[in-house]
Amino acid sequence: MSNFDLTGQTALVTGSSRGIGKALATALAQAGAKVAVHGRTVETVEKTATEIAEATGAETFAITFDVTSESEVSEGVKKLTDHWGTPDILVNNAGMQKRAKFSEFPLEDWQQLLEVNLTSAFLVSRAVAPGMEERGSGKIINIGSVQSQLARPSITPYSATKGGIVMLTKGLCADLSPLGIQVNAIAPGYFATELTQALVNDEEFSAWVASRTPAGRWGKVEDLGGAVVFLASEASDFITGQTLYVDGGMTSVI
Ligand code: NDP
Repeated sequence: MSNFDLTGQTALVTGSSRGIGKALATALAQAGAKVAVHGRTVETVEKTATEIAEATGAETFAITFDVTSESEVSEGVKKLTDHWGTPDILVNNAGMQKRAKFSEFPLEDWQQLLEVNLTSAFLVSRAVAPGMEERGSGKIINIGSVQSQLARPSITPYSATKGGIVMLTKGLCADLSPLGIQVNAIAPGYFATELTQALVNDEEFSAWVASRTPAGRWGKVEDLGGAVVFLASEASDFITGQTLYVDGGMTSVI
């Protein structure tokens, strides 16, 4: 269907040097978009940008900045804007995880989780918003988690940041959708990446994830491609403020 076609569009996917972000960037590139691949390390980002370009034939641009730094975000977005103009599509994906017994959870880890998982999406969205507003169009897609809705022990700060993503998405919908910008979130279930490596290696937990998921398995990062292309494309122009759970049914059952 032509309204899923992203030819001529540009996208910035934060944290796309690996894992879920890389898969989202690849899906957008396969749909025709030019994609800015992002992370903190130049070599890794350039390598991934080359891999995506070779795999999809799309134009890519390697960009590095720390999503928690207001000045680095501003400089990074300016560099991209100078190159391609304001991106048509922004995917706020960069994130991290930390686990600890709640009563021993270090304050600095709570603060870092807030900055990397939530403040980042505020900063990068705010940096691209003026250009999108001027153009009167844009798609912002925030990456939440099943933990936006379901809590588990030892990851309370992470869950709080992901719950925050749901309300950030609704708030930005209120602010930006009257200006022609749709803002939605994708909330993934459990996917095997560097972020979840310890859980994948824990045989008991890994089996629990599969049994707790109606689809009967962990997600594959490619499972997220359809959702991001849909929310980035004109096929979703009347959808905004929503969180789409791509979790094999995990949040639908107890
Ligand atoms: P990974 O650890 O594999 O990748 C994280 C990405 O974020 C990397 O590209 C990393 O780049 C980037 N990143 C981290 N911190 C910063 C920072 N301060 N500045 C810039 N970039 C940064 O994680 P996943 O792919 O698993 O996770 C991606 C997103 O999906 C996260 O928001 C996560 O919470 C969410 N998610 C993941 C799930 C899973 O099961 N894996 C489930 C639900 C949600 P680099 O290190 O190169 O700088």
